[in-house]
Formats: sequence, structure tokens, C-alpha cells
Amino acid sequence: MKIREFTRPPGRAFHLEKVDAGSTGKWKDKQKGLAQLAENQAKLFSLQNRLYASGAHGLLVVLQAMDGGGKDGTIRSALGAFSPQGVAVTSFKVPTPEELSHDFLWRVHKVAPPKGMVAIFNRSHYEDVLVVRVRALVPEAVWRPRYDHINHFEKALAEGGTRIVKIYLHISPEEQAERLKDRQQDPDEHWKFNPGDLEERKRWPDYMAAYEEALTRCNTGWAPWYAVPADHKWYRNLVVSEILIHELESLNLQFPAPIDGIEKFKISKISWP
Ligand code: AMP
Ligand code: MG
Repeated sequence: MKIREFTRPPGRAFHLEKVDAGSTGKWKDKQKGLAQLAENQAKLFSLQNRLYASGAHGLLVVLQAMDGGGKDGTIRSALGAFSPQGVAVTSFKVPTPEELSHDFLWRVHKVAPPKGMVAIFNRSHYEDVLVVRVRALVPEAVWRPRYDHINHFEKALAEGGTRIVKIYLHISPEEQAERLKDRQQDPDEHWKFNPGDLEERKRWPDYMAAYEEALTRCNTGWAPWYAVPADHKWYRNLVVSEILIHELESLNLQFPAPIDGIEKFKISKISWP
């Protein structure tokens, strides 16, 4: 799989109407896709081990999507391969009064990953140029400078040793309708049904414009954006796993050298009970 097709060179625009949400790329066979995903999960676990053992880098995975876009499923499946001990997931909700009394990056910086760890953001600081922009929660004069603030912030994280990978899960409005219908009709999913999602859905074109600008303006050499076709969950998981493998492998993670004379230590026999 060519990872490059999901991103753009920094400076080049993302045009989301040209990203086919229903694509499965060259993968026609779901069973084969699932088999490859299983292999990728094993690889991700092993890469995470190296990330932890070498302690030189943290990994930050930013997940954004429209409602029903599959952020939770992606965390469970593609990212579920990581050992829970080395991962912290943060879901960014409507800011609390305390959070609102600070700058918009305050709640974000606190949960950026330390070296050796993986941080997964279920929504992120990008909400501050997405929902905040679409819903005009603050004036344009406040949200517009945020693209630059975000780029500077992410650069500081990157230079501090954090590998940043930003993934937008792209679903079609038709697929979203199906998923919202499931939530409305399936008793096991009723708890997920939120009438507010129907209001956001009506603003689809505004959201796409906001996403395009965020992806384009904040797609940097130090923190790339990927737009992943996400109507097919198995393909979405496969692509996300491939992106993470690609990003982690590019760090060239090495296990630390063993202690001197490791082979000479005697592990004594114990007679017990
Ligand atoms: P959910 O992800 O469905 O649990 O919903 C979280 C909600 O919080 C979404 O509707 C987001 O748009 C909203 N949200 C997250 N961050 C912000 C923010 N910075 N300002 C306003 N709303 C936000
Ligand atoms: Mg929601």
C-alpha cells in the first residue's frame, strides 16, 4: 500500500470531494484485508515495544472525523494492538468552564505523550478550528490565527521528540446516515444516539470546508495529515495500521544495548518447596 496517496506534500491543498470515502484501494477481498490487518497489529505491538524500550520518542495519534466516522472503532481495532500500559487515550469533549478560561491548547499540551508512550487523541485541538468555526463559537478573528498557533505548537512537540500522526477518517454523508440510523434503531446503540449529531450533519458542507482548510494549512513536514477512506471499516483499519507502521518504522527505533556481559549472569536453581 502506498501511504503517500493518503496525504499531500505540505502546501498542497486537500480536496475532500476528490477523496472517495467508499474506496478500498487495490484491496478487493475483505478476508485478505483482515488477514493483513492481523499481521500489521503484531508489527505495531513490536514497534511499540521498541518505542518504549528506546525511550527517545513519543507517538501522538490525532483522530478526527464527523460523527459516526469511526474514531472509536479505529482505536479499538487498528490501535488496539498496542499494549494498554503504553497508551493513553484522551477524548476531547465540549470544554469545561475551567478549560475555557485558559488558552485552547492548555488542555491539550498536558496530555501530549512523554517519551516512550503513545497518546491517542479522540478529537483534539482541531475542534477549535472545526466545530468552533462552523458554529461560530468565537469570532473569526479568534479562530483564524489558530492554524499558526497549532503549527507552532506541533513543531515544539515534534522537536521535543514527539512523532505526530494526524488522521482524518473520511466517511460519506450516505454512510453517516446509515450509522446514525443504526444508532436510532438498534437498542444496543441507542445510548450513542445524539440528536445534536443531526444538527451538525446539516452543516456538512461547512464542516468539509473547515476540514479542508485545517488539513491543508496544518499539513506540515513535522506533523502530516492523512485523509483515510472510512466507509468500509476493515479498509479504514488496514490503512490506519499501515500509516502507523510507516511512521514508526521511519523513526528507526532500536532496542538499547544490553548490559555488559549479559550472557555471563547465572540464574540460580531454586529448590522449592
Ligand atoms: P463525542 O465525541 O460524540 O463524545 O462528542 C464530543 C463533542 O464535543 C463533539 O460534539 C465535539 O464537537 C465537541 N467538542 C470537542 N471539542 C470542542 C471544542 N473545543 N469546542 C466546542 N465543542 C467541542
Ligand atoms: Mg458526537
